[in-house]
Amino acid sequence: MASADLPTPDFTFDPNAPGACLAGVRPYRTGSFRLDAQLDSGRFVVHNYGHGGCGITLSWGCAAKVKEMVQKRIAVAHDTEVAVLGAGVMGMTAATLLLELGLRVTIYSDRDPAQTTSFKAGGHWAVSVVKYEGKENELKDILRTSYTTFKNSIGHGFGVSERPNFTPKPSPNLDVVEQLVPGLLPARVPLTRLPFEGHTKPGFKYQTLLVEPPIFLPRLESDLKARGVMFVHRNFTSKQHVFTSLTQKLIVNCTGLGAKVLWNDSKMVPVKGQLAMLPAQPDLQYLYGQDGYMFPRADHVVIGGTFEEGVNNEVASKTVCKDLVKHIAALFGKAAPRPMPEIHIHHPRNTAMVDPAMPARV
Ligand SMILES: Cc1cc2nc3c(=O)[nH]c(=O)nc-3n(C[C@H](O)[C@H](O)[C@H](O)COP(=O)(O)OP(=O)(O)OC[C@H]3O[C@@H](n4cnc5c(N)ncnc54)[C@H](O)[C@@H]3O)c2cc1C
Repeated sequence: MASADLPTPDFTFDPNAPGACLAGVRPYRTGSFRLDAQLDSGRFVVHNYGHGGCGITLSWGCAAKVKEMVQKRIAVAHDTEVAVLGAGVMGMTAATLLLELGLRVTIYSDRDPAQTTSFKAGGHWAVSVVKYEGKENELKDILRTSYTTFKNSIGHGFGVSERPNFTPKPSPNLDVVEQLVPGLLPARVPLTRLPFEGHTKPGFKYQTLLVEPPIFLPRLESDLKARGVMFVHRNFTSKQHVFTSLTQKLIVNCTGLGAKVLWNDSKMVPVKGQLAMLPAQPDLQYLYGQDGYMFPRADHVVIGGTFEEGVNNEVASKTVCKDLVKHIAALFGKAAPRPMPEIHIHHPRNTAMVDPAMPARV
């Protein structure tokens, strides 16, 4: 280990420890995430779902777009109440901004915030596993607003920090931000060698954000409750069920993968991801992305990620999670090198879905 190297993680992993293995399902939508409004059966419905592997990343920017659509509507319809469907990151950030319009906000969800996919996210601020066909300009605004809002919340108890992220190759998930919104993120820095034990090859250092869902989501929830927002447990079985059981004329649909059934949206595709949660290691202050990823958070060192298209269950496999750890450990010379299985997020087979489209350079 060279003296300038950053600390080597302790890769000791007990898959039987409580909460050590986790699985969630990304709400991926072919073509593009959905962010639009429609009149449906006399209700004004704003849809905000399908953000795949970057819902945390895009949340504040999408919430700002939701607010704009609702603001235009209430200027003519004068509604005073809004129903937000979903208590994940999309529902709670939208609800937060809708309060600024003076609306009475109620959140309906069949899961508590801590049980949502959002709570399981790693928390890297990056554009991953998402499509945005026809929404390039909108995405520019979304990225700008989201990044700025998260950045401004650093140090205010939202679980956001600025961290270096080391990668052996250029990261399409971060380069796309530079291409869409030049200058939003600090420029990536090429390195002649990644500064870690066992590493000999060149790489890159990006400066990006880490948003820790176990801090961010409870903070949103408690702020909303303190401002009078009601959280109502409700399982909707269909769009008709939504309309017959709710009285609000304004509805904001943030049901993630649930929209596949509720709004009969065949473009929604489940993409399962698994995470290995190692004990927290406060001396690790960097993110790392190669053969998966590693995000040292306050609660755990999170090692991901897998990518199982079409798989819609939240059952974690101890074998898969052990493998995730071994892959990263091997790069630090702490485990035997191994071939990458197809369910690994960085397997070339998955590139088309994992990496966002890069805008054409002019
Ligand atoms: C393993 C993994 C790692 C990830 N890492 C990152 C990351 O590092 N960075 C990042 O930005 N993103 C990451 N993501 C993606 C992120 O978690 C999602 O994009 C995000 O959680 C989507 O938020 P959402 O609010 O739309 O959906 P959800 O969090 O799933 O919330 C949907 C809500 O709708 C409710 N609902 C659904 N159907 C119904 C129904 N029929 N009736 C009533 N309520 C209903 C649910 O109960 C829930 O409250 C990751 C995802 C996974 C699985």
